[in-house]
Amino acid sequence: MTTSTGTTTFTDLYGRAPEGEWAAPGRVNLIGEHTDYNLGFALPIALPQAVRIQAARRTDGLLRVWSAQGGGEVTELRVADLAPGAVPGWAAYPAAVVWALRDAGHEVGGADIRLDSDVPSGAGLSSSAALECAVAVAFNDLYGLGLAAPELALLAQRAENAFVGVPCGNMDQMASMCCRPGAALFLDSRDLSTRQVPVDLAAADLTLLVLDTRVKHDLGDGAYAALRAGCERAAALLGLPALRALDAADLPAALPRLPSELRPLVRHVVGENARVEEAVAHLDAGDPAALGPILTAGHASLRDDYQVSCPETDLAVEAALAAGAYGARMTGGGFGGSVIALVDTAAADRVAAAVTEAFRAAGYTAPRTLTAVPAEGARRLG
Ligand code: ADP
Ligand code: MG
Repeated sequence: MTTSTGTTTFTDLYGRAPEGEWAAPGRVNLIGEHTDYNLGFALPIALPQAVRIQAARRTDGLLRVWSAQGGGEVTELRVADLAPGAVPGWAAYPAAVVWALRDAGHEVGGADIRLDSDVPSGAGLSSSAALECAVAVAFNDLYGLGLAAPELALLAQRAENAFVGVPCGNMDQMASMCCRPGAALFLDSRDLSTRQVPVDLAAADLTLLVLDTRVKHDLGDGAYAALRAGCERAAALLGLPALRALDAADLPAALPRLPSELRPLVRHVVGENARVEEAVAHLDAGDPAALGPILTAGHASLRDDYQVSCPETDLAVEAALAAGAYGARMTGGGFGGSVIALVDTAAADRVAAAVTEAFRAAGYTAPRTLTAVPAEGARRLG
């Protein structure tokens, strides 16, 4: 995918003005990884980085999409012909949302869409959900659907699952739709209930660094589906609707009932749900620094039990901890992507430099560093 300055305007592309402008953010998940499709807990925050779209309805049933990061061409699709697997490349993401809305019975037609994004793509910061949610909020407004944020998130998730073919859970889309500035979203993926948990890092002189390792290992796609299937098999063998239903206290009795290859998956999911609840308790108590050991324990579980880490994310975590971070973990699905590190604000530059130096010494591409400040979810801009 090319990068661009995004100077081509909507009017340049489509010869008229847009009807409105919308944005939906990327996210980092503080804790609660690979729990959403097990109907468990997660604790994401929205990033200031977002996908912004301008759009206007069309009455001829055409969907035309252009992205400043999409290679320069307008992709033209016929809304009535949209079907899973039928749209190659990045245009599948916006097309998927339009398909999902129509498949759910919502009366939406075509549109001209221009999008631009500063969410790094493929970095585990959920640029895909940001894109889907931006399209979803735009169509919700343009076609007067009146759908609530969680409904739009579920439609965006269905778009990614059924049309793009990625078997993700609902956390990324819920985060992009429902997060609020200054808060983490305590998400219960079973019933989509949410609570905004205030996170005031600045008051505690803390900074949440995001270290994008710039790698995405190819085995991720198939491995994700296999992990999800493994969790579902384990739940079925235990006679549970989902692993969420297994309490930590019942874990020792449950593990021997499972084949050995499924035990680490179950151990991760049960431990991770408990870590989310623990993290929320610390935030409620106004002690964000106490998240540090929880983050690091979550990383160890993803590395050793779930086995979705990789040398680059492990090195970033180790280097950040050695440089004084309170805690660090990979965030997102794994096999590359980004690491978060909770650090004293005064130490942020030093920790980022230490990770960069460790990557240089290992012969890896230099990581990209962002600072995560809990930002606003999907919204209309104008
Ligand atoms: P992540 O969601 O972690 O960023 P994914 O692999 O799930 O990674 O999604 C990345 C894909 O989303 C890209 O390969 C591209 O198809 C699409 N995408 C993301 N951002 C943009 C953008 N600004 N323009 C066009 N497509 C994008
Ligand atoms: Mg994604």
